Amino acid sequence: MNGTEMKYINEAFESNWIAPLGPNVDAFEKEMASYIGANGAVAVSSGTAALHLALSLLEVQKGDTVFCSSLTFVATANPILYQGAEPVFIDSEPATWNMSPSALEEAFKEAEIANKLPKAVIIVNLYGQSAKMDELAAICHRYAVPIVEDAAESLGSMYKEKSSGTFGEFGVYSFNGNKIITTSGGGMLISDNTEALSKARFLATQAKDPATHYQHSQLGFNYRMSNILAGIGRSQLQVLEERVNVRRAIFNTYQQELVGYPEISFMPELENTVSNRWLTTLTINEQKTGVSISKLLALLESENIEARPVWKPLHMQPLFEKYQYYPHSTNNSISEELFRTGICLPSGSNMTPQDQMRVIDCIKKALSENY
Ligand SMILES: *Cc1c(COP(=O)(O)O)cnc(C)c1O
Repeated sequence: MNGTEMKYINEAFESNWIAPLGPNVDAFEKEMASYIGANGAVAVSSGTAALHLALSLLEVQKGDTVFCSSLTFVATANPILYQGAEPVFIDSEPATWNMSPSALEEAFKEAEIANKLPKAVIIVNLYGQSAKMDELAAICHRYAVPIVEDAAESLGSMYKEKSSGTFGEFGVYSFNGNKIITTSGGGMLISDNTEALSKARFLATQAKDPATHYQHSQLGFNYRMSNILAGIGRSQLQVLEERVNVRRAIFNTYQQELVGYPEISFMPELENTVSNRWLTTLTINEQKTGVSISKLLALLESENIEARPVWKPLHMQPLFEKYQYYPHSTNNSISEELFRTGICLPSGSNMTPQDQMRVIDCIKKALSENY
């Protein structure tokens, strides 16, 4: 928190708007839309809810398929199953760790032959880094299939001077406690299609028809954001840029301190993009170092430092095993390789320089012990 959240929370209490609607919700939506440069935004209870609404609005249903990045958090793909549809997982490519245009192309080619194009493509921007949106959007446009951009991890990031999350029919952000700014829990659905956003508001409030009695013709959800939490969000949005700068500084320190270790590769930043560096992530070459990521994680753990492997690709998850997967190229699965070799380092905005040096020293120790 940055200290000004209480002002907005107090406003909610003083005006007695303790509800999933109110002035903070309206203002937060406007401020978000204007910040990222979209026509409108709908504040909801989680990023997952925003993804689910996006798929509902695109009328994804039973029997449909949805193409989806494989290297991501499970929340990206769960809404596909909520809708009774089937995910088809698309591999990453090395320059962004995000969706591989060549794997996407391959998936589309086969889907076209099978006469079964997907209803939507969900593209994730991992750890703050934008996917290759121009290439991916060109392919999706060619097949006239809409994009949902999962920008839960990339709020504040840029792709060619435009905000990450604004490249699809819908964009999704998350304000979960672990994200770059937070409302403890929450999400935002954004779009240039304000008509669709009105529909999203309707669906997110139990799809209540305009009638004096309680009348419902469609299946709805209870997905709106609380006016109290929206107050936290308004205050957090004011420090987003600051947070991005801090996270980027943390990344730069890791990189500078570990520059002498060529067996370590940091997650790249694609040209003409700015990553918010939500988490500093790197890969380790085990053949050269003799240090596997599990060994490094254990060593960090023994010093009371919590680090994590990168996301386990969804096509490798028991929940999703039976669904189709398209690798970057034949016998070359980039997401599997990143899962085997990648770790996320402590990257919190409130990490002290001393804390960070402790992490760096521990990594150096792990690597030097094997020389
Ligand atoms: C956090 C996250 C989500 C889900 O957001 P919630 O607000 O936790 O529901 C979706 N996708 C990705 C990539 C995430 O990191």
